[in-house]
Amino acid sequence: MSTTAEATNQNVAFKAEIQQLLDILIHSLYTEKEIFLRELLSNASDALNRVQFEMLTNRDVHDAEAELRIRIDADPDNNILRITDTGIGMTAEEIEENLGTIARSGAKSFLKAMEDTGQKGAVMDDIIGQFGVGFYSVFMAAEEVNVISKSYLKDTEAVKWSSTGQGTYSISPADKAERGTTIEIKLKEETKEFAQGYKIRQIIKTYSDFVAFPIYLLEEKPPAEEEGEKTKEWTQINQQKALWRQSPREVKEETYKSFYQQFTFDFGDPLLRIHTSADAPVQFYTMLFVPSKKDYKMFGKKDEHGLKLYARKVLIQENFKELLPNYLRFVEGVVDSEDIPLNVSREAVQNTPIIKKIQKVLVRRVSSELKNLAENEPEKYITFWSEFGPFIKEGIATEPESKSKFTDLLRFQSSKAENAEDLISLADYAGRIKDDQSEIYYIIGDSYEVINRSPHLEYFKKHDIEVLFLTDPMDSFMLIGLTEYNGKSLKNIDDAGLDLPESSDKKDDDASKDGKISDDAFEALVTRFKDVLGDRVEDVKESKILTDSPTRLVNPPDAVNTNMQRVQRMLDKDFQIPKKILELNRDSSIVGSISNRLSGNGDDALINPLIEQLFENALVTEGIHPNPADMIPRLQTILEAAAKTN
Ligand code: ADP
Ligand code: MG
Repeated sequence: MSTTAEATNQNVAFKAEIQQLLDILIHSLYTEKEIFLRELLSNASDALNRVQFEMLTNRDVHDAEAELRIRIDADPDNNILRITDTGIGMTAEEIEENLGTIARSGAKSFLKAMEDTGQKGAVMDDIIGQFGVGFYSVFMAAEEVNVISKSYLKDTEAVKWSSTGQGTYSISPADKAERGTTIEIKLKEETKEFAQGYKIRQIIKTYSDFVAFPIYLLEEKPPAEEEGEKTKEWTQINQQKALWRQSPREVKEETYKSFYQQFTFDFGDPLLRIHTSADAPVQFYTMLFVPSKKDYKMFGKKDEHGLKLYARKVLIQENFKELLPNYLRFVEGVVDSEDIPLNVSREAVQNTPIIKKIQKVLVRRVSSELKNLAENEPEKYITFWSEFGPFIKEGIATEPESKSKFTDLLRFQSSKAENAEDLISLADYAGRIKDDQSEIYYIIGDSYEVINRSPHLEYFKKHDIEVLFLTDPMDSFMLIGLTEYNGKSLKNIDDAGLDLPESSDKKDDDASKDGKISDDAFEALVTRFKDVLGDRVEDVKESKILTDSPTRLVNPPDAVNTNMQRVQRMLDKDFQIPKKILELNRDSSIVGSISNRLSGNGDDALINPLIEQLFENALVTEGIHPNPADMIPRLQTILEAAAKTN
């Protein structure tokens, strides 16, 4: 390039991690090198947004009359590409800070990902395109880069930053009177195609069609008259449309799709789209999307949720979190309002009551669109539920006021479902509830398979009463906010004090059974259990509801319920699970056999290990894992005795 570094320039070494990033980018085999243009255009657009905001809040801006735009001109004969914006520009200090040290999100998460995977080469190539590596991606295509910039601040000097991406950069004064930044790229031989007009056009259409400022390309026009000279003209390439301000009837399906993809960098389809506007109580346009996958962003960016907030077409903030409650942070999109005052700071915008009002409308809208999806496209809804269900549960736990809008979106496994994949809603449950049933029953556990074998379920299966299976760790949190549905309270079936219908008929059935333990013998057995287990149990009692299993553990009526115990255990590893009541099934053959041994010989060496083991089996069933080191020798003793008999 003609303007190589002057002798007076100091070459400064890049920070180590930038050089590391540059080495990866320069040697990358990544084929979609064109994304560098997307990154540079997005930086230009950011810079334009920022100066637009400054002009509204701070009148003293250099070149205030300049059109807010991006211009691209290319010189294919010399492999040169130039991108110029009239954005906020950079001072010498800023250029040093922004392009010499790694402060930026995209590049940072890229390096983090690289550390995490310990990978280079092919795997990293896959990741480059998934999220912005930012400015430095230019070195995938460039042999040398000059950034010439003039800040919007009056009385600052223009500055030039140059580098070949090989270890150092230099900064020197420059000659530029207009506000903004020019990125001048000397393309590598193998990337010289990027100086071709058709290629530039195609890239803009793919990645930057909805950039909110005009992007012009300098193109040759055929001469007006035959002998005339060829002329060059600036032609706008991008649509530059605020798509959300159009009427949904005018927007084509493909347009929505490419808008979504350019907006989110998610190259899948959105699961749900909401495009609407409101006039009262606040005027606004909005376009919202629910992605198909919660982790399409792959790396980092976790804190970067939030909608883009525009006030009268001016971007106020990119990740504006206050427009949606935190639990709806998976929703992407734009809100553009005529009612937001522009002459105030960003902080003041966050606190205006207008934002709260918009939020209310958005929450209502998201909830009703999800309900429609559940009704009209149940399969798609299940995809939504498996990706984003935990967010909805979080909402019910943390914002009980909006609970009513979301309870019908909940889905559960159930004792009456065909299998683990067959999910039901609370409405389904209520629709087939028994006439004499006054409560909605659930059980909490680690998985469908474990729960399905739980002794707690025996009674309910026998009496054909449906029980919801809560297997997601978020369920325990959700229950904090969800205590009733349709006037019926939700009850955990491991609760000792349930108001169960038909609880008397078990006794009738069993009266005819042979070999029932006498009251005296059972009392002696209970006493022995208490002696052996000591303060590991709250109490030992006869079970009124077990039919097959020998034992179960229930919560004493005054205890914190199991879901709160789970929440506490998640928050605090040292949390001690409160003592439970051990219920014995008087009709179980194991219980009968232990009772017989006890009546025969109270010193029988097997009685205590059997009691211990029954108790620990009950703990395992509850998902509480006893110490295996104690269990093995005991099991050996029991096995030895069992092997000996007969
Ligand atoms: P990011 O865009 O995620 O902040 P980049 O690596 O793309 O990261 O850019 C680094 C920084 O350089 C930007 O945050 C911005 O401050 C500055 N910058 C880059 N391009 C421009 C530009 N055209 N005009 C003004 N500042 C720019
Ligand atoms: Mg950027």
